[in-house]
Amino acid sequence: MNRLSYTSTRDNTLKIGAAEAVVRGLSQEGGLFVPERIPGLPLSLSGLAKLNYKELSYEIMKEFLTGFTEEELKSCIDRAYDEKFDDPAIAPLKEAGGTYYLELFHGPTIAFKDMALSILPHLMTTAAKKEGTGNDIVILTATSGDTGKAALSGFADVEGTRIIVFFPKDGVSPIQKRQMVTQKGSNVFVAAVEGNFDDCQSAVKRMFADTALKEKAGAGGFQFSSANSINIGRLVPQIVYYIYAYGQLMNRGAVREGEEINIVVPTGNFGNILAAYYAKNMGLPVKRLICASNENKVLYDFFRDGVYDKNRKFFLTSSPSMDILISSNLERLIYHICSDSAERNSELMRQLAEEGKYAITPQMKELLKDFRGYYASEEETGSRIASLFKETGYVIDPHTAVASASYEKYKSDTGDSTVSVIASTASPFKFSRSVLGAIEPGRYSDGADFELIDRLSELSGVAVPPAIDEIRNAPVLHKCVCEKERMGEVVTDYLLGGR
Ligand SMILES: *Cc1c(COP(=O)(O)O)cnc(C)c1O
Repeated sequence: MNRLSYTSTRDNTLKIGAAEAVVRGLSQEGGLFVPERIPGLPLSLSGLAKLNYKELSYEIMKEFLTGFTEEELKSCIDRAYDEKFDDPAIAPLKEAGGTYYLELFHGPTIAFKDMALSILPHLMTTAAKKEGTGNDIVILTATSGDTGKAALSGFADVEGTRIIVFFPKDGVSPIQKRQMVTQKGSNVFVAAVEGNFDDCQSAVKRMFADTALKEKAGAGGFQFSSANSINIGRLVPQIVYYIYAYGQLMNRGAVREGEEINIVVPTGNFGNILAAYYAKNMGLPVKRLICASNENKVLYDFFRDGVYDKNRKFFLTSSPSMDILISSNLERLIYHICSDSAERNSELMRQLAEEGKYAITPQMKELLKDFRGYYASEEETGSRIASLFKETGYVIDPHTAVASASYEKYKSDTGDSTVSVIASTASPFKFSRSVLGAIEPGRYSDGADFELIDRLSELSGVAVPPAIDEIRNAPVLHKCVCEKERMGEVVTDYLLGGR
């Protein structure tokens, strides 16, 4: 088979295989690993539509992870997409109000990051064995909510790994926080940080670049890696479900083979929508990629003006996983639209680091013509939850509602009636207070979280997911709160404590 190499968005001289890219997570000089070319779809669309989720995962992932044997990859896939998912379809497609919702929240933490984080630990330990370093892998993660729990649940008690998760103390929902601080596992550490998500993420990035820290950890038999959405092992599994959605649309006669669809993605770190862009570049018939933001609409402004500017007020919204001003994965898109030039990309990323902004050229902007940026205010997000429920009985979470409200704006702006798929990224049960507050305003401002969950179940006729039930009475195991300047110490204390 034709081996696919990976290079760095900031150093084109680098050329490594998929396994090494998965183990390393982030490149030495701060760049992200990207495939040197995007492979084409391995089968016809109708051929792909016949496959179940696991079979399709293998067909797509083998194109990107060329160093893995068939047996290795299939074993990773089997261990990831099993009964941990509460729907045999893994990513079922639901229709509501004439639009399709791709439900990516049937995994163990009822949010879309499970789609990738249930397989990443297996890809990583398989890759580490191939690379033969002998070190334990230490996952360092900054989370705005969902990644943290999904990574903890994916890595807990996976042999040869440790996982350390930092979350912004006041920047995640009560349920998200509870999910994290109750996490079991002999290899997990969770800390709340006095700061916002960008503070957490920047500190983690600095730790990855800190050679002294790396040497210290190396001496203790540890090697850092990242489970954040910058890891190529996160991105590749996410390509699968867009192709799966297309197959489901074909199977139910909603599109003819080859007919274009739109994909709408509620966006934070730009990983999920980048996966859709890769699917399109593999040959999936996609007309528009609609990037939906909440009030932190840095991406909306970017797609409109060609200027990325993070110097702005930061809002805490009802869709906390999208409260992000630096969308890390955008760097991969920037790299691709500057003709895969690490030099030009590095210059823009330097401007971002130093001035907090950069502008792309008109030629680069032309290459973004299939993207549309839209955003929804808090009010529009709540109204969309309420109106969709009223019209169809279908309940969506605030992140999905940002996408749905954005899509409504897109439709009324363009009159485009192309069949559209909205990535539905979290179960409404994870955000009961906001969801109920939108559907029955004023009634739930001070109910206890679990009462709200029961009420939501009653109202929507959907059973409370097992993941929620599990944490109801679980004891709090993680109480560490740290200043953002001290995150490095927390890491060395946990790993090397007694030594
Ligand atoms: C992480 C997350 C997003 C944003 O996805 P990105 O890949 O970071 O753009 C949206 N919704 C939910 C519920 C999430 O957890």
